[in-house]
Formats: sequence, structure tokens, C-alpha cells
Amino acid sequence: MIIQLKHDVTGNQFSRIETCLGEYGFAASRVRTQQGDYLIALGKKDFDIRRIGTLDGVKDIHIVSDPYQLVSRKWKVKTTCIDLGDGVKIQEGDFAIMAGPCSIESEEQIESTIGHLKANDIRIMRGGVYKPRSSPYSFRGHGMDLLVPFYEKCKANGIKVLTEVMQVSQIDEMHDYVDIFQVGARNCQNFNLLDELGKSDRAVLLKRGMSMTMEELLQAAEYLFSNGNERIMLCERGIRTFEHEYRNTLDINAIPMLKEKSHLPVIVDPSHGIGLRRFVEPLCVAATVSGADGIIVEVHESPEKALSDGQQTLNYAESTRMIRKVRAAHELYQKMRDWD
Ligand code: PEP
Ligand code: MN
Repeated sequence: MIIQLKHDVTGNQFSRIETCLGEYGFAASRVRTQQGDYLIALGKKDFDIRRIGTLDGVKDIHIVSDPYQLVSRKWKVKTTCIDLGDGVKIQEGDFAIMAGPCSIESEEQIESTIGHLKANDIRIMRGGVYKPRSSPYSFRGHGMDLLVPFYEKCKANGIKVLTEVMQVSQIDEMHDYVDIFQVGARNCQNFNLLDELGKSDRAVLLKRGMSMTMEELLQAAEYLFSNGNERIMLCERGIRTFEHEYRNTLDINAIPMLKEKSHLPVIVDPSHGIGLRRFVEPLCVAATVSGADGIIVEVHESPEKALSDGQQTLNYAESTRMIRKVRAAHELYQKMRDWD
């Protein structure tokens, strides 16, 4: 059960609500975010919510039967809008395209990518400076040395920065140079990391782990929200199946399912989802017409020279063509929604 508290709830009112919940057999936790003040009460199934709903200081009350609460669509019907400032918003109806290299490699590469993004009217650049790699001998990123110029050059061009954070100790040093923290597939159930990112004021793109169920992904998102951060995007990036022809299997099913279960925006990563450059474009289009709120795509001036994930990275001409098709597909999708 979610109890939304009034913004001006007094200490006495709060204590009274908490005491009542205890008397009715609920264990309650308070969650304060930049947007709201909530009490999550777990316990009984059958309960007349009016007993709590009529108390002073309560704004609204909702029964949520899911194994996650705050990220559920059961209490919040409208999809969450994430406002990144300077007119950049992730919201339903405005299809967000995030693009850039797998890894940030040099200042020249940052400038060249910004040029490509601006030419295509894209406002969010992705790029890893801390890279999770299967082999310890692979390139593992330039860290803060390139994060600072990455952020500064993007900011000067009105572009927001999305980059992966791998451990709790990196959050503070990265904070001032990041607009969206990415939690990678391998870290999606690193609950200590999620707890700490939940206390951050930066938006988070939470990638689905390679063998994670919908429920586990949403519970991971609940860690972020319950620590105080409502600015979360869910990211489908392919799961591991028996099929070896491609790197991962992009789970298109997850798009409408996550949209139904949660009010959080859903972003799709076709690059990691299939791992093959020639199929990235059709999967971007598929994600668009399956109801995603955006895509994140790997792009590089010369993918064959990329230090990581070149095999799934689009060059600028391929990226430009993909963006054109995705925008056309999104327009069509919006029109088709009016036929419902
Ligand atoms: C990436 O975005 O480059 C990445 C490593 O993603 P994932 O965690 O989905 O593998
Ligand atoms: Mn990558």
C-alpha cells in the first residue's frame, strides 16, 4: 500500500499515521523524493483504506498488489516524465534518441560525435568511461580523464551526458559531470550501488540484467525509488538465450509488458540487444513501433577502429539513416495510437 503524504504534513500528523498503521499490523517505511513524500506500508491484504485515507496529512492512498510498489503503474497512471533541463525531456510521446560510442576514446572523438548528434538534432550522448568487460585484458575505459572533457564539451553544445557508473565509490567523483547514470546489465542487482544512486539527484538508466525477469528488474528499480530517486528509466538491452547467432536476444515482449506494469519510461538498446551492426536499424524501428519511449544506440565515426563493441556500432551514415527511419516510424506509431 502506498500512502501519499501532503507536502505540508506535520510531525504530529505523521506520527499519528504511523501509529495507526502499526496498530492495524502494517510495517511502514517513509520515502522522500524530490517530487513527493510517501509511506510504504506492507502487511495485510484485506483492509479498508478509508481508515488511513481519512487521517490528516494523507493526500491519497493506493492498494498495490505487486511485489514492487512505487514503480508500479497501479498507483500512477501517467508515464513519468524525466526533465533533464534545457528543454531535454524523456517522456511518452516524445521519442528520445540517445547515441554515441560504446567507450569514450579521445577528445577528438567526443567532438566528432557531438557534430554528428547536432546534425541529427540529438540531445543526449552516451559513452562509457568505466567499462565492464568480460576479459580483464580488454580496454576498460579512460575514467575521469575523459569524463570531464566529455561533459564540458557536451554542455557547451546543449547535449546531456549518459555514462555508466560501476561502483559506489565512483558516484561522488562522477556526479558533477553526469546527467544520467547508467547502471549496466552486470550491475543491475548490485543493491548497494542502487541504494546509493537512489540518494542521488541524477537520473538513472537501469539496464536489465541478462537473465533478469520483469519482476526482478522492477524490484531493482524499486531500490532506486525507495531511496528517494524517482528519475528512473528502464532499459531492455537483450537477454541471454540458447541462440548463438547473435550476441543477445532483444526481448521486444518486454516493451509493452514493462509499459503496462510500470509508469517509468522504457528505453531500448538494440546495439547490445543483437550485437550485429547490420540488424541494429530494424530493431530500432521495431522498438519504436512497440511502444518504447526511446532508444540508446552505439555510434562511432569508424566502428572498425572502436576500442569496444565495434561489431555492433553504426557509422555516421548508418546512424543518420536509422534516425530518419525511427522518426518516421514514431510519427506513424503516434497516428496509429489514435485508431485505438
Ligand atoms: C554499454 O552500454 O556499453 C554496456 C556495457 O551495456 P550493457 O551493460 O547492457 O552490456
Ligand atoms: Mn557497449
